[in-house]
Amino acid sequence: MLMTEALYMTDSYLKEFDAKVIEVEGDSVILDRTAFYPQGGGVLCDTGALEKDGKSTEVVEVTKSAGRILHKAPNHALSVGDSVCGKIDWERRYALMRNHTSAHLLSSIFYTRLGVLVTGNQIGTEQSRIDYSMETMDMDAINKAFENANEEIKKDKAVKIYSLAREEAMKIPGVVKLANALPPSVDMLRIVEIDGVDIQADGGCHVRSLKEIGEICFLKAENKGKNNRRIYYTLRN
Ligand SMILES: [Zn+2]
Repeated sequence: MLMTEALYMTDSYLKEFDAKVIEVEGDSVILDRTAFYPQGGGVLCDTGALEKDGKSTEVVEVTKSAGRILHKAPNHALSVGDSVCGKIDWERRYALMRNHTSAHLLSSIFYTRLGVLVTGNQIGTEQSRIDYSMETMDMDAINKAFENANEEIKKDKAVKIYSLAREEAMKIPGVVKLANALPPSVDMLRIVEIDGVDIQADGGCHVRSLKEIGEICFLKAENKGKNNRRIYYTLRN
């Protein structure tokens, strides 16, 4: 079966790459390898362009299906076997990386200090939101968690990505914080570790060090049904 090698899994900072077209499905192009992050895990997808012989075609959406990563490029004239250069919209991606690492940092602090689990998130470029399973909305605790998160950012902790045998990984408390989303049954888990703060099984793109986040600013909190609290934040450089 045709599969796409996900280059973003090993290098979140890869902005350009060469690849071959292995399949074309209407306006979607499937490559042998890609740095484009497909929509998933509560994180928006990358956008950008595919270039061939100096001609550029816009990638407007990226999705994943059965191991293949589909680049929706409505105006493409590509065919199987073509060599292309992929370029991701780095400004958008970097904003998503900063927001995503922030979500891990906040979730970790909520988990360790308040004992609450994340039930969902939506990582965006301008603002992001995280849903927590929390009985009552404790605004003091929430404000304190944001304060703690920003203190950690000032310490400029490193963010490391590596793989770990599933059996070993599952021994780490809180390695899966998304309450209802255990990773699929694979032997090796991809781990994202914020040095000394958080260890999380995750397939997304992250910054290398917390300082790149800037400052996490609380926007608002909402009640979303029984035991569910939604928190919005944005980042400041
Ligand atoms: Zn994540």
